[in-house]
Amino acid sequence: MPIRLILIGPPGVGKGTQAALIEERLGVRTLSSGVIFRAEIEAETDLGQLAKSYIDRGELVPNGVTIQMMLKRIRSDEARKKGFVLDGFPRTIRQAEALELELNQAEMPIQRVISLEVSEDVLIRRLSGRLGCTKCGALYHRTNKPPKRDGLCDVCNSPLFVRADDQPDTIRQRLVVFNEQTSPLVEFYEERGMLRHVDATHEAEEVYREIIEGLS
Ligand code: AMP
Repeated sequence: MPIRLILIGPPGVGKGTQAALIEERLGVRTLSSGVIFRAEIEAETDLGQLAKSYIDRGELVPNGVTIQMMLKRIRSDEARKKGFVLDGFPRTIRQAEALELELNQAEMPIQRVISLEVSEDVLIRRLSGRLGCTKCGALYHRTNKPPKRDGLCDVCNSPLFVRADDQPDTIRQRLVVFNEQTSPLVEFYEERGMLRHVDATHEAEEVYREIIEGLS
């Protein structure tokens, strides 16, 4: 049966890192709303332009366009056949309700919702040193996971970049938005018996093991 999994948690908790490990090891495609928005911005589409105005301020992109963008991908043949890991979506109760309706109608139930959790101090430290590859999207950290060559990706040798929204003021705003708009999802999924809490303070490998254990 295809794996269908949702990762929720504040910015910097390691959703992207875990989604990449799951994709690499289990062959399940990640659908990451943040990555898709950044690709739209890069391609200078109308959606990208709209999204950028919110992302740069640390605000959420409006529900309507976000839901449409994600449901389109969830309806794809590949997602239907092979399953998916959702990273960064849903982020509001409205998004969660729209997703639930879609998946119920399509008879594609979610197996598990993983809530990745760490203290705010750790989040700020992780976000402040974060680096990403401009080409393949591999993730690094200045102190926790530095690239072998300064400023260059280990995988494809392309330059690394710091996300525009990983600046201190924007980080603070993103955490406020998470606490207000996204954290209610924990209760939403807990009520449905789908949630598993995972302490994401540990090393990425240990967090990965806990996520996989939670699938059985
Ligand atoms: P991320 O890469 O997941 O940290 O997302 C980066 C930014 O994209 C967020 O701070 C939001 O501005 C926007 N974004 C990503 N996912 C969503 C979503 N599900 N709903 C609204 N905005 C989103």
